[in-house]
Amino acid sequence: MAKDKQPRLVIEPEKCIACGLCEAECPFDAIHIEGDVAVIDYDKCKVCRKCIPICPTNCLSVEGGKEAAPAEAAKPAEVTGKVGGYSGVWVFAEQDSGEVHPVSWELLGCGRTLADTLGCELAAMVLGEDVEDVAIEAGYYGADRAYVIDNPVLQVYRTSPYAAACISLISKYKPEIVLVGATTLGRDLAGAIATELGTGLTADCTGLDIDEETKLLRQTRPAFGGSIMATILTREQRPQMSTVRPRVMEALPRDETRQIEIISEDLALTEEDVLTKIIGFQADSDLDAPNLQYAEIICSGGRGLGSPSGFELIQQLADALGGVMGASRATVDAGWISHDHQVGQTGITVRPRLYIACGISGAIQHLVGMQSSDTIVAINTDPDAPIFQIADYGIVGDLYQVVPELIRLAKERNLKEKLLSGVAF
Ligand SMILES: Cc1cc2nc3c(=O)[nH]c(=O)nc-3n(C[C@H](O)[C@H](O)[C@H](O)COP(=O)(O)OP(=O)(O)OC[C@H]3O[C@@H](n4cnc5c(N)ncnc54)[C@H](O)[C@@H]3O)c2cc1C
Repeated sequence: MAKDKQPRLVIEPEKCIACGLCEAECPFDAIHIEGDVAVIDYDKCKVCRKCIPICPTNCLSVEGGKEAAPAEAAKPAEVTGKVGGYSGVWVFAEQDSGEVHPVSWELLGCGRTLADTLGCELAAMVLGEDVEDVAIEAGYYGADRAYVIDNPVLQVYRTSPYAAACISLISKYKPEIVLVGATTLGRDLAGAIATELGTGLTADCTGLDIDEETKLLRQTRPAFGGSIMATILTREQRPQMSTVRPRVMEALPRDETRQIEIISEDLALTEEDVLTKIIGFQADSDLDAPNLQYAEIICSGGRGLGSPSGFELIQQLADALGGVMGASRATVDAGWISHDHQVGQTGITVRPRLYIACGISGAIQHLVGMQSSDTIVAINTDPDAPIFQIADYGIVGDLYQVVPELIRLAKERNLKEKLLSGVAF
């Protein structure tokens, strides 16, 4: 093709307002604002057209050449989905003495869909001491491969050796996506890895999928206090890293017929290299903290209770159904109940089989923490309360009349046993 027929990015200078959006968007550093106009550096421009839709005054266009899609060679690196040869979806398998946190299996469930969409491997990153069983188990939950570092230095979690182990594996095998559970450990580890690798990390994602056109990971999470959902892309760094809270994603059914390939790697670290020493271990003294995250039945109370004593009634309902007690943030902020019970964006994400919301309005920050529950029952005096929009069963009424009646019926019909044995679901 003759040079003058090749497609060329052009600008209408009279329309340009020198906002700089095209300069920021260009992956090839080919546009610069000079004075009050954007100027194109034709030596660098690959006619990828990323700047065109971003321009608020439509002053950029392509002239010459074929009209449609840009040539493959002209695509920016991330459009190919293989920045620097990165490929594969990895999940960090969080374990403590061989016991794996269920969020890791949930992330493998989500990772399976991402890997299948991208046509790449799904792998578990398994660190610890004597962790081969964890790697095998990761296969049962969907992983094709496990990258394992088995080393006494990794027996108990400490940030620096765990981060060093992850970074050595990531640097060697270059996964495109790394997912970590948003647990206390996971939040600590993911931040350390992303900082060291100089890549992006989106925390507390509620949705992950692959952008059809660019093949980038679309990382969706609530922003501005939950008033909007933001979808975040890591365009130019790899790996793309996200943390996801427990119970947000769903694990695949465990399948013992699935095989996994195990790749073992060494870690050039000894105990002497690690500054942090474990001098003792004391279990969390708050043994009464509710296990909301994995509860099958949750009865939650909100400001509609009117006073802290209202939670006594919610506890009676939870006891009658064999469930645990949750709460809205309004009640936690009011000091009616401890934060361990708070469900929602700044509390715990839950996915029970049955969620009963008593006197809770249904603010978005509460809903994002419980809307994946299998069955939602709402009790509220206000028929227009937003909670009714997501409830499977809504009872418009005073909770102080409705809840005692529910407790009575639950006891009369022996619902606790039926629910716990699964008969009533
Ligand atoms: C950054 C940020 C993060 C947040 N994180 C969370 C979070 O994690 N979790 C969370 O819950 N909130 C969170 N919130 C707060 C959230 O916006 C709401 O303010 C909160 O959820 C409201 O709690 P509520 O539904 O109990 O109270 P209200 O909104 O006051 O609702 C009380 C409801 O009770 C009903 N009612 C009153 N009396 C009765 C009765 N006798 N019987 C039946 N119904 C009755 C009323 O009609 C009303 O609908 C967050 C807010 C921000 C800005």
